Amino acid sequence: MRKFVELNKKVLKEKRCKQCKEFFTPRSSLAYICCTQCALDYKSAMNWKKEKTKIKESLLKFSDYIKLFQITFNTFIRLRDKDLPCISCGRFDVEEFHAGHYIASTFQYHRFNENNVHKQCSQCNTHLRGNIIAYRIKLIKKIGLEEVEYLENSRHMALEMSIPEIKEQIKIYKQKIKDLK
Ligand SMILES: [Zn+2]
Ligand SMILES: [Zn+2]
Repeated sequence: MRKFVELNKKVLKEKRCKQCKEFFTPRSSLAYICCTQCALDYKSAMNWKKEKTKIKESLLKFSDYIKLFQITFNTFIRLRDKDLPCISCGRFDVEEFHAGHYIASTFQYHRFNENNVHKQCSQCNTHLRGNIIAYRIKLIKKIGLEEVEYLENSRHMALEMSIPEIKEQIKIYKQKIKDLK
């Protein structure tokens, strides 16, 4: 028995303790903390980290969640349309692509509607303010006149989403992005 312990000691290399960063000889290959005190300190440090994340989250406002969702949603749009040219001018060879809204995102209702947002070059999106006339022609080809008119006619409706609903949508779109990659 003793021999075995000694043998084991020789096999296990010294490690740095995750808490105090000192070298120690681990008793098993899974050990990553040197002593009981360090284990307690490590645990409270972890709890504090979790607590901090919670506090940070509770400080986020509705508008912050909308912003977070928009970032995730836009990434999805660019990936979904990655083999397509700019929706408005039809160019592929551009410096930068954005996710461009047909009905502007100031109208909240279609802000996160996949039919309303398509890959668009920065020239059309920013400098030509959406290049809307060309956008409309291509959009009719892509999703049909009926759907385009629906977007136009319902644009004044309010977007009613709670923070938990937005969080859920962010999760869904993160998964959609993973599936596309
Ligand atoms: Zn330690
Ligand atoms: Zn363009």
